[in-house]
Amino acid sequence: MQDDMSGREVLRFAPSPNGWLHLGHAYSALFAFDMARRLGGRLLLRIEDIDIGRCREEYLEGIYEDLAWLGIEWETPVRRQSEHFTDYEAALRKLRSMGLVYPCFATRKEINDAILASGIPLQAWPSDPDGAPLYPGICKNMPKARLNELMWEGRSYAWRLDMEKAVREAVRINGGPITFHEDGESPRGDTGLISIEPELFGDVVIARKDVPTSYHLAVTVDDALQGVTLVTRGQDLFSATYIHRILQVLLGLPAPRYHHHGLIRDDTGRRLSKSAKDMGLKELRAEGITPADIRRMVRLD
Ligand code: GLU
Repeated sequence: MQDDMSGREVLRFAPSPNGWLHLGHAYSALFAFDMARRLGGRLLLRIEDIDIGRCREEYLEGIYEDLAWLGIEWETPVRRQSEHFTDYEAALRKLRSMGLVYPCFATRKEINDAILASGIPLQAWPSDPDGAPLYPGICKNMPKARLNELMWEGRSYAWRLDMEKAVREAVRINGGPITFHEDGESPRGDTGLISIEPELFGDVVIARKDVPTSYHLAVTVDDALQGVTLVTRGQDLFSATYIHRILQVLLGLPAPRYHHHGLIRDDTGRRLSKSAKDMGLKELRAEGITPADIRRMVRLD
């Protein structure tokens, strides 16, 4: 593990190159940059491009261009997740050896059908904090023979975390309930020491057959590998921290502090055209908007 021997805070901005950066990204990137400056810390840029099908080289170039235009400076070399699948695979192997993950062959349709078959209407079925219906457990206790059969057939599958078991094991390793330190605010306004509630996600997918990782696993491994001490990101990822914390405990990784910031709301672009919020930074730049205007628009001036 790379430790920052200088004792300086290590922050990161971690965009996914699957589209052009917009005002929300600008706010998040400037927030991390300003915070790193204020703390006398380091700012890393990490490219989260595990979704090879959706990520494009031109978006990556766009990220570099937009960030430089905003006046943001970051350290090099930049870590690209697509170049580090073996790191995530190793973490997955560890979770497998702990007996905490299982393969799930169910398609989205099969999951929906299983929910419908339960007699509970889809709208009444519990959903996770991201709004996805909780996994009904259809592949959970699959007999080994059937499991081998499906694997031999070459069917694609996802690795799911057995959440109940994982929580039990993590609490045992941690010697008590798991928390994290929130320097910012949850969407409900909680701050300080936060108790995690990963059960809200049910048996979450943490890797796939074809891509041996997920956002959750890759982000957890990388924050530790890169020695990140303070994670700044939007409040939309607040609940995801529950999953990251449990993975950190299970994988024996250190816990950074977290600062979840508010999201850019619709009224931000009031002084511009109505669609300013949805316009890419590239387009805003072409309209003659300056980095100082962007700071004003996201209220960071
Ligand atoms: N790659 C994620 C995104 O673009 C951010 C991940 C994070 O900050 O943890 O939304």
